[in-house]
Amino acid sequence: MSARIRPDLAAIPSYVPGRSFPGAIKLASNETTHAPLPGVADAIAEAAQTVNRYPDNRNTELVGEIAKRLNVAPEQIAIGCGSVALCQELAQITAGPGDEVLYAWRSFEAYPVVTQVVGATAVTVPLTADHVHDLDAMAAAITPRTRLVFVCNPNNPTGTAVGRAALERFLDSVPANVLVVLDEAYFEYLRIPGADAPDGIELGRGRPNVVVLRTFSKAYGLAGMRVGYAVGDPEIIAALAKVHIPFSVNRLAQAAAMASLDAQAALLDRTHAVVDERARVRAALIEIGYDVPPTESNFVWLPLGERAAAFGEASAEAGVLVRPYGTDGVRVTIGDPEENDAFLAFAGQSAIVAEYAGSAASAG
Ligand SMILES: *Cc1c(COP(=O)(O)O)cnc(C)c1O
Repeated sequence: MSARIRPDLAAIPSYVPGRSFPGAIKLASNETTHAPLPGVADAIAEAAQTVNRYPDNRNTELVGEIAKRLNVAPEQIAIGCGSVALCQELAQITAGPGDEVLYAWRSFEAYPVVTQVVGATAVTVPLTADHVHDLDAMAAAITPRTRLVFVCNPNNPTGTAVGRAALERFLDSVPANVLVVLDEAYFEYLRIPGADAPDGIELGRGRPNVVVLRTFSKAYGLAGMRVGYAVGDPEIIAALAKVHIPFSVNRLAQAAAMASLDAQAALLDRTHAVVDERARVRAALIEIGYDVPPTESNFVWLPLGERAAAFGEASAEAGVLVRPYGTDGVRVTIGDPEENDAFLAFAGQSAIVAEYAGSAASAG
């Protein structure tokens, strides 16, 4: 007889890693293709000399540096083992059995998992026909049981973003006792111009029920290091510390994040290059005949419906790994120009075009 585990966990799908094989072009995980930013590998090597010691559980240096850069108090910042850990911690401090966690669908795959892990009930609101958050419908879906709302902006996997005015209207309609998480994992890739540029840190000022999540995994290129952070009201941040797994942000990760913050100019160059490439890739796909929503992140979304899985298989066979999502669509990360060209060459093959592009795809 085996040990007893919580029966409700059976409903959580086991993690299935993306397909990979040597030499494949990986456009499946929204990583940057570049090596870490200048100075980062050296900082990691130096920190390696002291890994006989526990890390600073309060992440004092990193918290101080982020606070300074964002013009918030250190008490407003929590560091996590990736921002996905913070998603789980936020669910842990707000929700349990009988409570509701609200989010759009399709959105980040971690939301349903962390909701189930804490035993809460997921309430999902479909994206609009344009693959954008339907904030009015989300506001309408809030009930007296709602404890936590995730808004992923830009949205993973569709790449779409909502602007500041729409977010403000939404936040103003949410009851003050419901925590709203603005997940800005792709913040550095946003290029919405002018006053409508959404910035969770600004939106959160004066709104203690707003928490912003950012990460070093995407634009900063530290996916393998596992560092993200939450910015919010000191009471929320103090609660996060209670459920935090002690020392889960290790010494190398803290040093790497610190060094990355010092490489802002290189970071900006890289994000500009990705933004240029995403415009090129999207235009090329539209030219071929695909439907591709506007994207504010480092990936594009192909709403292929039922054909998503087959497209993903065909792309993998052509040596380019992309990410199919059920019967919704396929997410393709923007890589470097050669990698993107390889994907475009696949997507533009006449047999693939006939099967997946244009009206054939939108019927699916
Ligand atoms: C990648 C991602 C994260 C978290 O990444 P970490 O590596 O855990 O920091 C969080 N939210 C969204 C929407 C993401 O796409």
